[in-house]
Amino acid sequence: MEPNEIIKENLKVIHQRITDACTRVSRDTSSVRLLLATKTVSAERVKLAIDAGENLIGENKVQELKLKDDLLSTLPIERHFIGHLQTNKVKDVLKYVSCIQSVDRLSLVEALDKRLQSEGRSIDVFVQFNTSNEESKFGLHPSEAHTFFKSIKQYNTLNIKGLMTIGLLDNDNENVRPSLSSLRQIREELLNENLLDGSIELSMGMSKDLEIAIEEGATMVRVGSAIFGDRIYPGSYYWDEGVNVK
Ligand SMILES: *Cc1c(COP(=O)(O)O)cnc(C)c1O
Repeated sequence: MEPNEIIKENLKVIHQRITDACTRVSRDTSSVRLLLATKTVSAERVKLAIDAGENLIGENKVQELKLKDDLLSTLPIERHFIGHLQTNKVKDVLKYVSCIQSVDRLSLVEALDKRLQSEGRSIDVFVQFNTSNEESKFGLHPSEAHTFFKSIKQYNTLNIKGLMTIGLLDNDNENVRPSLSSLRQIREELLNENLLDGSIELSMGMSKDLEIAIEEGATMVRVGSAIFGDRIYPGSYYWDEGVNVK
C-alpha cells in the first residue's frame, strides 16, 4: 500500500474505535475530537492525514513546529502544543500554535502572560496534570489544582479551555482507568468551586487507551503511533523529566 493509503486506513480504524467507544457509553461521536500527535512525523506525511480530512495536530517540540511550518502553515488546520514547554521557548512557540495544552507551572504562566501582553493578545491553554503518580512526569499534582487555578485567574491573556493528562502507561486497562477518571474529577471539583466555567475540554487518551479515556469523558484524544506508525524513541523520551530532550 502507498503511504497515503496506510494513513487513510489507520485513520478509518481510529475513527471507528472512537465511534464504538462513544456508542458504548451513549455519547455522540461528535463530542470527541481527534488530535494527531505528529512528533517525528514529516510535514509531508502529516499532510497526507490532513488531505484525508483531519484538521487538528499537536506537536511536542518548537523545533519541529519550525521545521514543518512552511508546509503546514498553508493548510486549514489548528496546531496545538502538547510537549513540555521551556520558558525560554515561549516567544517561539507563540508563532505557531493557537493552543498550549501543557501549561503546568506558574513560572510558565508568568512567562506566557508577559510575552502575550507585549504582543497585545491572548491564547487558549489547557492545564496539564500528572494523574498517574509517576514522579518523572510533567504536570501538576491533582492536589495542587485548587491553588493553581486560584492563582491563574488573574492572567487574562490565557483563555483556559481544558485540562490535559497522559494516562498511566500500562497494558492493563483497569490500571490505566484511575489516571484518566482523575482528570474528570479534577474538572468537577474546579467547576463546583467556581474556579472554572464554561465547557472545559478533557484532553486524554492516546493510541492504546483512547477507549478508556472516552468512557471517562475525554473530549479530545491525541493519537500518534496508531496513525503514523511506531516512533524510534519511546514516549518517555518526550514527556519524562530527566530524560535529555533537545
Ligand atoms: C506522543 C504523544 C501522544 C500520542 O501517543 P501515541 O501513543 O503515539 O498515540 C499523545 N500525547 C502526547 C503529549 C504525546 O507526546
